[in-house]
Amino acid sequence: MSTFLFDDIVFGPVQSRRLGVSLGVNLLPTNSKVCTFDCIYCECGWTDKGENVGVLPKREQVVAKLESILSERKQNNLPIDAITFAGNGEPTMHPNFAEIINDTVKLRQKYYPEARISVLSNATLIHRPKVFHALQLVDDNILKLDSGIEETIRKINCPLGSFNLEKLITDLEAFEGGLTLQTMFIRGEYEGASVDNTTKDEIEQWLNVLKRIKPNKIMVYTIARDTAAEGIIAVSKIELEEIAEKARALGFEVQVSA
Ligand code: SF4
Repeated sequence: MSTFLFDDIVFGPVQSRRLGVSLGVNLLPTNSKVCTFDCIYCECGWTDKGENVGVLPKREQVVAKLESILSERKQNNLPIDAITFAGNGEPTMHPNFAEIINDTVKLRQKYYPEARISVLSNATLIHRPKVFHALQLVDDNILKLDSGIEETIRKINCPLGSFNLEKLITDLEAFEGGLTLQTMFIRGEYEGASVDNTTKDEIEQWLNVLKRIKPNKIMVYTIARDTAAEGIIAVSKIELEEIAEKARALGFEVQVSA
């Protein structure tokens, strides 16, 4: 296992097929992963729960770093198509997430008014009014839901603290379709038990949840790098396409990455 952590508050930009030239923002520590989940497939490794949890960057640090990179690139006529909140864990956990999104919207208007702001989140904190309202200011909410079966989510995402799938689905419904739903498909074995969110029953329940949430877009993908747990394997592109076709048949736009 050789997972990795982003070592700065702002990273990249990277050339993304979907987002174009995308600058990443990491609101989590640079030396540990902080998250409300502990996904067995996480590319950042296991969630730190002990004393080694690092320090979150301050709002002022994030804004200063972001502004310095945006202004420098602007002066040098270099493009930025997207500013993407991702990084070493769950960005909405930052206590000033809402304020930082507001700051980012202002910086975007000042330097790159055409750039899109995206947030990759596991959706566990969208019930918080401040988080929910901040996400309404964002162009692309890319929210994770790996299964329509709570037991499977417990096996794959290993929620830390209380978790209720029905409540999460209701919270996702509140976006009224204004989100991209992202699902990681995997299979394998973890702690002696089989893990597979691609079975017939899994896909049936997943499609039922899609019908309720009505996301404006769906992204299905699989493992591309080393994972926290060993024994987890990727699903083939052909299988991902078969799953995507079932969602497309219901009228959804689906992007497959493998
Ligand atoms: S939600 Fe994302 S960051 Fe958190 S454990 Fe899962 S994959 Fe890792």
